[in-house]
Amino acid sequence: MAFERVSMTSQQWIEKSEKYIMKTYGRYPIVPVRGEGCRLWDADGKEYLDFLGGVAVNNLGHCHPKVVAALQKQAAELIHCSNYYQIPQQIELAELLCRHSFADKAFFCNSGAEANEAAIKLARKYSREKYGPERYEIITADDSFHGRTMATVSATGQEKVQRFFDPLLHGFKHVPFDDADALEAAITPTTCAIMLEPIQGEGGVNVPSPGYFQEVRRICDTHSLILIFDEVQVGLGRTGKLFAYEHFDVVPDIMTLAKALAGGAPIGTMLATDEYAASFTPGTHGSTFGGNPLVCAAAIAAVRTILEDGILNRTEEIGEYLEGELEALQHKYHFIKEVRGIGLMIGMALDIPAGDIVKKGHDRGVLLNATHDTVLRFVPPLVVTRQEIDSMIIILDGILAEVEV
Ligand SMILES: *Cc1c(COP(=O)(O)O)cnc(C)c1O
Repeated sequence: MAFERVSMTSQQWIEKSEKYIMKTYGRYPIVPVRGEGCRLWDADGKEYLDFLGGVAVNNLGHCHPKVVAALQKQAAELIHCSNYYQIPQQIELAELLCRHSFADKAFFCNSGAEANEAAIKLARKYSREKYGPERYEIITADDSFHGRTMATVSATGQEKVQRFFDPLLHGFKHVPFDDADALEAAITPTTCAIMLEPIQGEGGVNVPSPGYFQEVRRICDTHSLILIFDEVQVGLGRTGKLFAYEHFDVVPDIMTLAKALAGGAPIGTMLATDEYAASFTPGTHGSTFGGNPLVCAAAIAAVRTILEDGILNRTEEIGEYLEGELEALQHKYHFIKEVRGIGLMIGMALDIPAGDIVKKGHDRGVLLNATHDTVLRFVPPLVVTRQEIDSMIIILDGILAEVEV
C-alpha cells in the first residue's frame, strides 16, 4: 500500500509550527522539503540557492549520492547498537579521522556541543589526575561559540547566549580573540586548558593574525596547558584543508568536530592524542546514540568523499573566486567594511545591520545568513559551482543597490 504523501502549503506548515513548535529559533517563513547539491525547494515548489548549507553542515551539498547510498545500505543492515558492544562503522570512522589528523583516538557523540562537553570533561579529568583538583579552569575567547548546553554556554564568550541561565558553570574565563598577551596574562595556577575556534564562526567569521596560534601553542607548552580546537564549524574541508589547524602550522591536543562530519546526519566527535585520551576510562563518559552504525556509515562516506573527490583543492579555488566576487562588491558599496575568510568560510562585514539583506535574499531565491548582526556569512556547500556563485552575486548586487544609508 502506498503512503499518502502529506501535501501542505508552506503557509499551512507555518501555522502548524506556530501551534506545536517551541520558539527557540527566529525561523524564516520558508519550508524546505527537498534538496540537491546547492539547491533547495520549498513546500510550494519555490527554488532556493543555498549559501548557508545548513550552517556549514552540508559541505557535500544536499543529499550527496554517496551519503544517501551509505545511509540506505546501513539502515537496512543495522541502525543502532549499544556502545556496550564493538561497532565496526565507528571503529572505521575513528581510524579514518586519526589517520588524517594529529589524533590517536576518538570519542563519538551527537552534536558539536556534546563534542565540546566531552573535551571539557576530558581536560578536567586529565588535569585533576595529573596536577590535583585545583586545576580545572578553561580559558576561551570573547565572541566564541561552543554550544548551548550549560557547560558550553559557560564556555561561550557571548553574553547573549549566557543571559537568563545563571548560575553558569564555574571555571571558565574569557579573553579577547587574537591577543596572545591577554591570553598569557589570564593564566593562573587553576588554568588547565585553552579552548579556541581556529576561525570564529558565529562570532562574525574572525580570522586570527598570522602567528597567533603559534604563540598560543607556545603558551600552552610553557604552562603545560591543554590546547583544544573547536573545529565544529571550520573542520572537514570548509577552509580548503581537511582541518583548519593545518593552515596555522600548529597542532592541538584535543579537537572537536560535528557539523559536516556525516553529510547532514547528526554526529559529533572529540579527538585526542593518547596522552589525554587515556583519562577516559570505562564509566567516565558516554552517549547512548554516540557513534551508532547508521550515522558512522554516513560519516565514513562523507569524509572519504571530501578526501577523494578533489574537494579540498576545489574548495580553495572556488573560495578564492567567491571572495574575489565579494571584494568586487566591496569596491562598489561603501557600507561594506571588509571581506574576510579562508576557503568557503567567508564573512562580509557591513556598517549596517545585515538582517534585511538576508530577508530580501529569501524573496529572490537565495539563502543568505547574517551572524553577529552586521556580518553576512557565506558557508555554501563545497560543491558550489561558479555559475551558482554568479547567480547569487547578481541577486546580492541587486539587493545592495537598494540599500539606503
Ligand atoms: C555549531 C557550533 C557548535 C555547536 O554545535 P551543535 O551541534 O549545535 O551543538 C559548537 N562550536 C562551534 C564552533 C559551532 O559552530
